[in-house]
Amino acid sequence: MVVRHPHFTEKGLREQVEIVEGIESPLLLVVPNKDMDKNPEISIVVPVYNEESLIEELCSRLKCVGDALNRSYEILIVDDGSDDGSFEKLKRISEADKIFRLVKLTRNFGQQSAVLAGFRISRGEIVVQLDSDLQNPPEEIPKLLAALTENIDLVTTIHKKRQDGLLRVLGSKFLCGFGQMLFGKTVKLNLSSFRVMRRSVIEKIEACKDRSRYMAVLMSWMGLPSVEVEVEHHARKKGETKYNLLTLMKLSWDLVTGYSNFPLRLVTYMGLFGAFIGFLMMAFLLYQRIANGILIEGFVVLSAVFAFFAGVQLLSIGFLGEYLGRVHSQIQDRPDYIVEKVIE
Ligand code: UDP
Ligand code: MG
Repeated sequence: MVVRHPHFTEKGLREQVEIVEGIESPLLLVVPNKDMDKNPEISIVVPVYNEESLIEELCSRLKCVGDALNRSYEILIVDDGSDDGSFEKLKRISEADKIFRLVKLTRNFGQQSAVLAGFRISRGEIVVQLDSDLQNPPEEIPKLLAALTENIDLVTTIHKKRQDGLLRVLGSKFLCGFGQMLFGKTVKLNLSSFRVMRRSVIEKIEACKDRSRYMAVLMSWMGLPSVEVEVEHHARKKGETKYNLLTLMKLSWDLVTGYSNFPLRLVTYMGLFGAFIGFLMMAFLLYQRIANGILIEGFVVLSAVFAFFAGVQLLSIGFLGEYLGRVHSQIQDRPDYIVEKVIE
């Protein structure tokens, strides 16, 4: 007799485990999910954090767009620890309409974690991610889905005109420009939170074990076959942005420390520079003393010695940092490369 039951692995990947009974140690086989036809084709994943005033409009517009797709779909809403009544509203809506699935996180974990939870719990072969504040108009979803052609795994978006406050736009531009500088030309960074992807992309994200799961950055880093689609961006009608200058700075710092060893390397460079200047000064002082018989006063000598030793110390810290950097990336255990597909 064969018993099937859905099983979530540690990685959160959906697998079906087939247990063949009657054999002493049950044979565990990972088989393709045969209940796949029951799964919707498309999952729309939306993180919600304190968006009470927008819930009804969000749900009705999402459902309208979903119904018009003429494909099977689900709307998966992740409540990221809201404390303003968003969850109660969402609960009522999802109880009345089975197209909505609702996930509640125990507390506020941040947008990235909420999205990751949504990705893992969603069941569709195609996953749409968008914000819940309706700045990404759900009506643009069909355009993104149309761009997900056979050879494309990821559709990202660029905004015709970003309808946000000046500070928010500048903060975002800085984050993107700074990130792009860290990665160099080989990675095309797109930080938009409105995107469509195949499930294979989520499986590849699971292969990245680092704690800093800045979803958009990881997806950009993977260099998957993708296209950018231009979409409308609307101003927030109600509620407020959850990102202020401080949270944006934290994100930038997360980007730097999560994706590069640059700060550690900077210490090495500073040390090299200091030691080099100190060395030049000392050589000059020695030369003056020996060749020209000039004894330069104590302060200058002290400065030279200080610059040299400060440089050497920084350099030593930098070397330690280089090894720490290696430990850091080893612990992240991110794969060395991502295979797009194998054609046989
Ligand atoms: N969000 C979330 N958890 C958070 C912060 C934000 O789930 O801790 C959600 C929020 O409800 C919205 C999306 O992430 O759907 C984007 O947030 P926001 O509109 O504040 O960001 P902005 O548009 O300013 O980038
Ligand atoms: Mg927003």
